[in-house]
Amino acid sequence: MGSIVFKHVYKQYKGESSPSVNDFDLRIEDGEFLVLVGPSGCGKSTTLRMLAGLEDITQGELYIDGKFVNYTSPKNRDIAMVFQNYALYPNLSVYENMALGLKLRKTAKHDIEHRVNRAARVLEISHLLDKRPNQLSGGQKQRVALGRAIVREPQVFLMDEPLSNLDAKLRAQMRAEIIKLHGTIKTTTVYVTHDQVEAMTMGTRIVVMKNGIIQQVAPPYELYDDPVNLFVAGFIGSPQMNMIEGGIERRDGVYYFTNKRFMLPIPAVYEPHIHTNGANLRQIVMGIRSEHVVLEPSEGIENENDERTVSGAIDMMELMGADTYVYLKIGEFSIIARTEAHSTFRNGDRVRVRLNMRKAHFFDQHTGMSLRAPGDVGR
Ligand code: ADP
Ligand code: MG
Repeated sequence: MGSIVFKHVYKQYKGESSPSVNDFDLRIEDGEFLVLVGPSGCGKSTTLRMLAGLEDITQGELYIDGKFVNYTSPKNRDIAMVFQNYALYPNLSVYENMALGLKLRKTAKHDIEHRVNRAARVLEISHLLDKRPNQLSGGQKQRVALGRAIVREPQVFLMDEPLSNLDAKLRAQMRAEIIKLHGTIKTTTVYVTHDQVEAMTMGTRIVVMKNGIIQQVAPPYELYDDPVNLFVAGFIGSPQMNMIEGGIERRDGVYYFTNKRFMLPIPAVYEPHIHTNGANLRQIVMGIRSEHVVLEPSEGIENENDERTVSGAIDMMELMGADTYVYLKIGEFSIIARTEAHSTFRNGDRVRVRLNMRKAHFFDQHTGMSLRAPGDVGR
């Protein structure tokens, strides 16, 4: 049914010196909920618009349900799109807004009625069918926009930042509803957002893009636990992954991450990836998430040089509710630890910082690639 295949797809806008979408190569399975995420301008909308048929493809091939569609007009692609600005017709009722697409396609009246009523029930807007868009809240308008897409019963839904205009609470609620909806109708969905939280909570698979280039395609937990490069590591997760520059040293058969303040053993799993030759010179970045940084009171530090701990000072504490972010200064380095909500630490306290090295990531400073990435460094 609604599988989608991008084969080395490029988009270069007229007059631009470089492609806005660069070698996009991906297969999306029927029924998948795929999220495209990345910073503003990275080519998400362009990719979606090529899929919708609203932009020409400069190079490469696009298939929907096995059919080559590069030159197929949008209305013949059997897709429905939901945008950020709901694009509802102000002088039509909710019912008429939802029915319009079907009417234009000359769908039988009773069929239209059936589909609109069913979609309205699913979206819990049955009581609004007689209202006009200006009588609705933002969330209700977005539901109508979704309803208008659903009644078409397309093979594919495309959504471009559909929740950006809603406030935080409503956004979280609509996020859950769209996922629930997908669970019910199981239509292949490609969902675009710049918000990594939205991507992580919604996608069964996530495509992270930067400068028109796919960085990584993976399920949420894999992006979080195994980012292939510095960009993905920094983009996914909040607070941002701590990044510390340093080098590699080998002592007594063990590799260490070292710099002026740190001397920490690199887990054995990285060993095959570290070239012994010149390893001492390799400039690397250690990445460690805030939840893998554990603080202990500085009293009772028996061995300041314990190779897994460093000592630091608390610069600032941010109370987040369920937990607290502790901003630390370790010499010239700044890192964030995540602790329980009712932390006994105070600003200015000196603490012992224990880093869970088994959870640390290591990246090549020059290529940005994880030392563990497939194909190794230098890619
Ligand atoms: P995103 O949706 O990820 O924010 P876009 O796909 O809208 O990114 O844009 C990707 C890049 O293509 C940007 O650099 C943008 O300026 C450029 N771009 C988008 N639309 C056009 C256009 N019609 N003409 C020229 N450049 C464009
Ligand atoms: Mg966009």
